Amino acid sequence: SRQDKDREVRSVCPYCGVGCQLTFNIRDEKIAWVDGAPGPANENRLCVKGRFGFDYIGHPHRLTAPLVRRDDAPPKGLNVDPADPMTHFREASWDEALDRAAGGLAGLRDRHGGRAVAGFGSAKCSNEEAYLFQKLIRSGFGHNNVDHCTRLCHASSVAALMENVGSGAVTAGFNEIENADVAIVIGANPTENHPVAATYFKQFAKRGGTLIVMDPRGQGLRRHAEHMLQFRPGSDVALLNAIMHVIVSEGLHDRQYIDAYTENFDAFRTHLDGFPPEKMADLCGIDAEEIRAVARAFAGARAGMIFWGMGVSQHVHGTDNSRCLISLALLCGHVGRPGTGLHPLRGQNNVQGASDAGLIPMFLPDYQSVEQAELRAPFDTLWGGANVAPERGLTVVEIMDAIHDGDIRGMYILGENPAMSDPDVDHARAALARLDHLVVQDIFLTETANYADVILPAAAWPEKTGTVTNTNRQVQMGRPAVAPPGQARPDWEITAALAKRLGLDWACDHPRDVFAEMKQGMASLDNITWDRLEAEGVVTYPTEGPDDPGRSIVFGDGFPRAGGRARFTPAEVTPPAEVPDARFPMILITGRQLEHWHTGSMTRRTAVLDALEPEANAALHPRTLRRLGVEAGGRLRIETRRGAIEIMARADRAVAEDTVFVPFAYVEAAANILTNPALDPFGKIPEFKYAACAVTPA
Ligand code: SF4
Repeated sequence: SRQDKDREVRSVCPYCGVGCQLTFNIRDEKIAWVDGAPGPANENRLCVKGRFGFDYIGHPHRLTAPLVRRDDAPPKGLNVDPADPMTHFREASWDEALDRAAGGLAGLRDRHGGRAVAGFGSAKCSNEEAYLFQKLIRSGFGHNNVDHCTRLCHASSVAALMENVGSGAVTAGFNEIENADVAIVIGANPTENHPVAATYFKQFAKRGGTLIVMDPRGQGLRRHAEHMLQFRPGSDVALLNAIMHVIVSEGLHDRQYIDAYTENFDAFRTHLDGFPPEKMADLCGIDAEEIRAVARAFAGARAGMIFWGMGVSQHVHGTDNSRCLISLALLCGHVGRPGTGLHPLRGQNNVQGASDAGLIPMFLPDYQSVEQAELRAPFDTLWGGANVAPERGLTVVEIMDAIHDGDIRGMYILGENPAMSDPDVDHARAALARLDHLVVQDIFLTETANYADVILPAAAWPEKTGTVTNTNRQVQMGRPAVAPPGQARPDWEITAALAKRLGLDWACDHPRDVFAEMKQGMASLDNITWDRLEAEGVVTYPTEGPDDPGRSIVFGDGFPRAGGRARFTPAEVTPPAEVPDARFPMILITGRQLEHWHTGSMTRRTAVLDALEPEANAALHPRTLRRLGVEAGGRLRIETRRGAIEIMARADRAVAEDTVFVPFAYVEAAANILTNPALDPFGKIPEFKYAACAVTPA
């Protein structure tokens, strides 16, 4: 019975950035079931992943002992059976595995310089683990080649927010929608990707709030939207500039706010002259009158919010898209008050915290630039004379290119799966195979671990202690529910053991010690202590004092930029990096599904979630399927300039007729074989949301 439990543990969901609090109910040292808990982001709610997504931790594929590649192993490739890895690897003691891992990376450093080694950390690990990982690369190898999946996620949004607002985090928590009267959701599909946040959006609409959804895919929220703008993929900048043209030309902008809190408005107003809606309508596929209606609704709101996701950020013009959204909010004065704000919905559970902790090649913790000597100096001291390098390191996709160029020869990858998640993934897989030394630390033998020389078995989230920071800037305490299997150890402990073998003198016996050190370099953690988090479970940053739970809304009285002013930065229309032609006439969009998380390593090993979505599938409009002569459930071949996959067809009227949507969780039909690695020049994020493709019956 549900009462039949030995104990319960309060923690946080490890999947999306909503950061739902939950209760693990433990029976016979197993998670028997999970309940929602009264966290500030979820108020007892959970989605299907939070409810049923935990039996992966007991899956027989769990790594339970360190592995090293056998001397007689076949050539590196995607050819290891996770149920029988001993064809390629052999078990090793922790001592041997750590010696090999550290020795291999240190050898490359000593022969070729620290730049020959790069690190991918994880947005699924704790803040303390992210912090230690970037510290290890920076102080152990003497440069900044350290990144994580924010580069594939909101790097362009953060670039635009840092540039124009002065801070990369959200200006208001998503629950603030309760106080809004108009909300825009653009390039995001919360019902699938942030399902508990979506429940708040739907309630907002039911209470009479005006919900405006803009997305090339029709999606779950459209049923609740007063305006659904299904614009052409890649036309975001044109559409947003047209909306702002209407606001300014009809005098609906908030002059008082603009005068008090912004700069560069005059140049921006002139720039908008070129975007009348009648001129942009064809490009966007949206009627000029609808554009005008949306502009009037948002500008006329008492309080408006803007939410966005990967549909905005994953373009070669991703930073320009976010610049437009920031300008739109500033034009209307919809920042810094109840019911207003800019909110890029964070994907991974700890992508906000990992970024805050400095797991990025251009910033130290708290977004302090590696290029400024006065910001580096405190970390040199804190890290015992680390001498942090003054140049930005390489980003995720750049690291793969540098491997092919022979500049990067070794990697330490923790809880990331670039052999599935990188764009043009065959290129990434070939890069991983070229490495002289690859150390992978994970809970499963992922596709990336196929290429490893040493595999270090890690504890899963419900098996360890640590803090995580959700999309709302809420720092929350994760607690261990059960013990790790076999010899698996928490990531922070493994990274610290590697550091010791690299000659680094770290005193850290518990995540509590790491958190205390982080506070010395991160003003954002002022007034947040480990003891507080243990007692209260959550504190939002910034917080004014030891009893203040923190501020959901920031920038009510100016911005953290010179002069306290936010900036209008004009964005021109840039076409996608490749456009359809006779050979590749359709548009490929990739993304996630409700039941599966990212590259599927956890959710495809979870019984309920795998039963709900067992097979790789692509969504197309029924008329497109008819034209192709393929029934729903039939097989398709999708090809781009990078490669081809075969996949089951699913009929979905919400997908435009010239478009196909493919989720990227399925190794047997890996969407990223198809995607374009072209990068946004500012955020260095690849264009996952647009590639030219050909679709034929398989
Ligand atoms: Fe977990 Fe996100 Fe679902 Fe909440 S909404 S239960 S954080 S996956």
